[in-house]
Amino acid sequence: MSDNSDLVECPFCHEKKAGKLNAPEPAEEFLLVGFSKKTNKLFPDRGFPVDAYGCASCKKVWLESPSLKMVDD
Ligand SMILES: [Zn+2]
Repeated sequence: MSDNSDLVECPFCHEKKAGKLNAPEPAEEFLLVGFSKKTNKLFPDRGFPVDAYGCASCKKVWLESPSLKMVDD
C-alpha cells in the first residue's frame, strides 16, 4: 500500500485505513480482463484499466475505473 498520507476512508467499514494498491512489479497498472470458462483462456489484450484499493482494517479490496473505457490493443 502507499504511504499514510494517501489513506482514504473505506466505503465498507468507514475506517480511514484504506489506500491504493501497487500493481505487482514489473507492472504499473491493474487491468480487468475477461475470462472464458469454455476455453479456460484469459484475454489480456482487452480490458478496463482499474485502480485497486485495499483496507487494512476490514481487509476488503475494491476496484475503481477512472474512465470506464475499455482499452483494446
Ligand atoms: Zn474497511
